[in-house]
Amino acid sequence: MSPINLAIVGVGKIVRDQHLPAVAANPDYRLIAAASRNGTVDGIDNFRSIEEMLSAVPAIDAVSLCMPPQYRYAAAEKALAAGKHVFLEKPPGATLSEVADLEALAAEKGLTLFASWHSRYAPAVEAAKTLLSGTTIRAMRVIWKEDVRHWHPNQEWIWQAGGLGVFDPGINALSIVTHILPRPVFITAATLEFPENRDAPIAAAITFTDARGLDLAADFDWRQTGKQSWDIVAETDAGEMVLSEGGAKLSVDGRLVHAAPEREYPALYERFAALVKAGRSDVDLAPLRHVADAFMLGRRKFVEAFHD
Ligand code: NAP
Repeated sequence: MSPINLAIVGVGKIVRDQHLPAVAANPDYRLIAAASRNGTVDGIDNFRSIEEMLSAVPAIDAVSLCMPPQYRYAAAEKALAAGKHVFLEKPPGATLSEVADLEALAAEKGLTLFASWHSRYAPAVEAAKTLLSGTTIRAMRVIWKEDVRHWHPNQEWIWQAGGLGVFDPGINALSIVTHILPRPVFITAATLEFPENRDAPIAAAITFTDARGLDLAADFDWRQTGKQSWDIVAETDAGEMVLSEGGAKLSVDGRLVHAAPEREYPALYERFAALVKAGRSDVDLAPLRHVADAFMLGRRKFVEAFHD
């Protein structure tokens, strides 16, 4: 099969850090165009809007949509209507219903829609899933605490409605948890802390359970300075499992049992190419559904204003 002619839309931080190197290293792709209001990619045709790009470059087979989630649906709908396969950055959209609509559109047109969850491709995630599938889990704690000023400087969209606030990183943890647990979980309570001048939370404390009464709690906080924490700790019959550094390392009872070099985005692009070749889609909405449930069930606390 000849390479997939790819275009990228929304040229910002994640495109430069991850998408461009992953695509350049994968012979299944030929990057032929980009669309962004301000950003450009060297050496290819650049356009100011996806509409302009789709009408000027009919050879495009697939698009990667990397703008903030509030603006993803409009671009995805245009791409699918033009007959292109679509790779959605995480989170796949601003609402569950709009992503369900995209899924139906892709199915109708026989196109691939990929709702990507990069953290699921962190090096030790599959090893954690295997470990948990063969033991009894008594309790699980998710600790996702980072410094928003360091990781998201000047990203206004992230604080606006639909930008998800602390759930922008928190949904990465949820994408791992929903992948490694053997049974579906659901939220029983949540407290969301909103800065008084923002429309998205800066912290969230959430409890979950499952049909067997699992004790699961998640603590997301964007006010963490110093050491950053992206850890999932489980008390199991096989010992204490610690999946740390965002899924990079797995330890059991303090002994490192799995670590490998990080290659989340190369793996995402391998998956997308395989889906396109197989004529299939992959749209798992579980992580976004938990975020929606937290907004639906959660208590709201207003906390001190946040300024960059
Ligand atoms: P970003 O740099 O702030 O935004 C990406 C680009 O989207 C911007 O450079 C901008 O390009 C375009 N954009 C911004 N506002 C827009 C609007 N109103 N309408 C249309 N386009 C707009 O953000 P990012 O960090 O790359 O994140 C983008 C997505 O990737 C998010 O969903 C995020 O969760 C996900 N992601 C980010 C990271 C990370 O480390 N940053 C990691 C994994 C996933 P133009 O101004 O040129 O249009």
